[in-house]
Amino acid sequence: MLILGLETSCDETGVALYDTTRGLLAHSLFSQVDIHVEYGGVVPELASRDHVRKALPLIEEVLAAAECSPEDIDGVAYTAGPGLIGALMVGATLARALAWGWGVPSLGVHHMEGHLLAPMLEPERPEFPFVALLVSGGHTQLVRVDGIGQYRLLGESLDDAAGEAFDKAAKMLDLPYPGGPHIARLAEQGNPDRFNFPRPMVNRPGLDFSFSGLKTYTLNTVNDCREASGLTEQDKCDIARAFEEAVVGTLVIKCRRALQQEQLSTLVMAGGVSANRNLRASLGKALAKEGARVFYPAPEFCTDNGAMIAYAGAQRLLAGQVDGENTAVRARWPMTELPPLNEQQGA
Ligand code: ATP
Ligand code: MG
Ligand code: FE
Repeated sequence: MLILGLETSCDETGVALYDTTRGLLAHSLFSQVDIHVEYGGVVPELASRDHVRKALPLIEEVLAAAECSPEDIDGVAYTAGPGLIGALMVGATLARALAWGWGVPSLGVHHMEGHLLAPMLEPERPEFPFVALLVSGGHTQLVRVDGIGQYRLLGESLDDAAGEAFDKAAKMLDLPYPGGPHIARLAEQGNPDRFNFPRPMVNRPGLDFSFSGLKTYTLNTVNDCREASGLTEQDKCDIARAFEEAVVGTLVIKCRRALQQEQLSTLVMAGGVSANRNLRASLGKALAKEGARVFYPAPEFCTDNGAMIAYAGAQRLLAGQVDGENTAVRARWPMTELPPLNEQQGA
C-alpha cells in the first residue's frame, strides 16, 4: 500500500511517500524559518500562504524522486491537528481534493502520533509496550503506549513545553528562532561548572513538568551578566550549557521514574527536542545502567516532517480507517482520544 503523507501543521511543509512493504520511498521538506525569523516566531497567516505555494511542487518532487505516478498511490494521509488552524486547513483541503480526484481514501492523522511513531522509520524498531517522551515545540508529555492508538497520559508540562523553553531561552541570549539547535551549539563551548540551574519539580512525586521557573532563572542570570560586564560570548555559552543541563537532567529523571512506575524497559523519545545530542547521550547512559533502552528518530525526523505522517497514516489506512464525510481539522486534539488501530471507523 503506497501512501502519500502531507504535514502542514505549523511552519514546515513536509511531503513523503511511504510504502507498507518497501518502507519510505522519498520525502521532502520545506522549512519556512526564513519567512518567520524577523518576527521571532511563527506568523500563522504567512504560514498558511506558504503551504499553499510549496505543497504541490513538493508532491511532484517526491513522486519524481520515488519514480512513482499518482496512479500508484493507494491513500493520502495529512495532519488534521493539533496545530495552526489555517495551516492545517491548507493541508487537509489539498490532501482530500487529491484523494477524491485519484479515487483513493484519505485520512487525517494526529500530529503527535506522527511524532510518536517516527522512530518506527528506523531499521531497529522499538516493540510495544513502551513509555514515550514527546518533547516538541508545543508538547512535553510522558505517555504509556501499548499499541498504535492505545495511549495513556502519564504526565505533561503544566506550563511551557521543553522546545518552547529552549526557544525562549534562546531569545534571551539574542539567538534566532527556533532556538533549540542554537542553544545546543553554544552549550558545547559552555563551562558546566559556572552556573547550576534548578531542575524544576524533580523533588515532587509524579510525572508532570514545569519549565517556567527555569525560564525566569535563566532571565535573571542573563540580566546579572549584562549588569556585571555586558553579556559576553562566553557568558552565553555558559548559560546555554547550564540551561540545557537543567532541561536534560529533569527529563532524564522523569523518564526513569515513568519506566519504573510502568515496569517497562523501553523508552521512545520523539519531537524536535529529541534531536538534542546531550539529551540522547544522557538518557542512553542513564537507562543503560538499569538495563533499559531508548529509541529515537533520525535527526531529520525529530522535527516536523512528512515521513512521520505518511507512516502513521499508512498504519491506520492499512487497518481500514478512512476519513468520514465530515472530518474536520482540529487546532486542539488530545492524543488519548484516538481510536486503537484495529477499531474500524469512518466510511
Ligand atoms: P508540536 O509538535 O508540539 O506541535 P512543533 O511541531 O513546533 O510542536 P517540532 O517541530 O517537533 O515542534 O520541534 C521544534 C522544537 O524543537 C523547537 O522548539 C526547537 O527549538 C526544538 N529543537 C530542535 N532541535 C533541537 C535541539 N537540537 N535541541 C533542543 N531543542 C531542539
Ligand atoms: Mg517547526
Ligand atoms: Fe511537531
